[in-house]
Amino acid sequence: LEPESFTDESKTVIGFIADYYRNIETYPVQSNVKPGYLSAQLPKTAPYCSESLEEILKDVTDSILPGLTHWQSPNFFAYFQANASTAGFLGEMLCSGLNVVGFNWISSPAATELESIVMDWMGKMLKLPSSSLFCGTGGGVLHGSTCEAVVCTLATARDKALEKLGGCEYITKLVVYASDQTHFTFQKAAKLVGIPSSNFRALTTSVSTEFSLSPEKVRAAIEDDIKSGLVPLYLCATVGTTGSGAVDPLQELGEIAREYKLWFHIDAAYAGSACVCPEFRHYLDGVELADSISMNAHKWFLTNMDCCCLWIKQPKLLVDSLSIHSEIMRNSATESNTVIDYKDWQIALSRRFKALKLWIVIRKHGLANLMHHIRSDIEMAKRFEALVREDKRFEMMATRRFALVCFRLKPKREDEGSELNGKLIDAVNSSGRAFMSHTVLTGVYVIRCAIGSTLTEDRHVNELWKLIQEKAQFLLLE
Ligand code: PLP
Repeated sequence: LEPESFTDESKTVIGFIADYYRNIETYPVQSNVKPGYLSAQLPKTAPYCSESLEEILKDVTDSILPGLTHWQSPNFFAYFQANASTAGFLGEMLCSGLNVVGFNWISSPAATELESIVMDWMGKMLKLPSSSLFCGTGGGVLHGSTCEAVVCTLATARDKALEKLGGCEYITKLVVYASDQTHFTFQKAAKLVGIPSSNFRALTTSVSTEFSLSPEKVRAAIEDDIKSGLVPLYLCATVGTTGSGAVDPLQELGEIAREYKLWFHIDAAYAGSACVCPEFRHYLDGVELADSISMNAHKWFLTNMDCCCLWIKQPKLLVDSLSIHSEIMRNSATESNTVIDYKDWQIALSRRFKALKLWIVIRKHGLANLMHHIRSDIEMAKRFEALVREDKRFEMMATRRFALVCFRLKPKREDEGSELNGKLIDAVNSSGRAFMSHTVLTGVYVIRCAIGSTLTEDRHVNELWKLIQEKAQFLLLE
């Protein structure tokens, strides 16, 4: 790494990225390449001699960009957004430029200490109880994804339970609870830590509970399992479900978890970001009862991929479960028991200096601008909802709480709903002018419009609605 060429080449790449953002609206939002397109364009073997950055960037333009779905387009309304920001990008640059591997305190003290500080900053912005923060009795860690956060907390809960039950053979007795709206990452995590699939309870939700998990159903399922000789282990509640943005009743669920001694986790991957605003904080009421809570700053908190915050009430349990002793890791700081070794708070040994990114995002924006960002997305979503409600050919399909709007084109006959709305979404997406995704709520096909890409403005939302109306008109005439 030679500083002179590093400076020049980095400037070239930054210029390339800046141009990408300048032109982003000219690309079809969803890539329309066919599977295998890339191998037809690139050599079959790696080059023996070095190639110039110009040649490489030309290939990025000619071969890579056409195969991208443009997540940073202001016309991206699918899944949940993955916010990027200049601050997030600067943080990524510093993280990858310094390229330290802070697996334990001694391997890079600043990486560990900044992470602890920034996790407390973030936790205080969310008004988490001090029992989940370092300034109290808990603590936080940055993972890459919610899935990792859930695997680690599930493994912790499992180990604690198996120790109490008297051995690993009892794993077949352990049961985990969630709703049918809980992200599938929870099911994957449960599978990864060895919970039998027959012990995974995805309790059904309904329109009447606005797709949130019913405490009565949880209690009944727990009672049934206990009667069958099983051991309830872990309850996962969600603040802002992926399907419809539903919020599970944390207080009541937390009380049940406490009564039956289950680990209580809150997945606030998407909507956690909104809870920094006082008017949305009530969605976290009951968080005091949680053993752990996670949120993805890389979704809606202007933090480039990847960055998942996990807070835990009893970090010692996590460390007991995830630490392995190795001579190569021995050092006096660890033995003094006065430092954190984040390798014991996650799956892998190695880790990036993600805290730098989140720290810069928070400092460069300040809480005021971060709240403004969330509020303006929610205002746009409210306006989009009003447009849907004004047009009698459409209907809302779930209560909008955050910036996700679930709606559909009303079918003439109920059994035509999926096909009609599937065609509508295909027509919108294949136009290249916008990209949305869908879900199925209690058997009904629903279009999801997730507003929140960093560059989205009112005009993009208006254009989206015009596009939807235009395609719907065409379908209804067909
Ligand atoms: N939980 C919720 C509510 C989500 O919306 C998502 C992704 O959209 C996830 C979990 C999965 O997150 P990750 O990809 O970080 O594991």
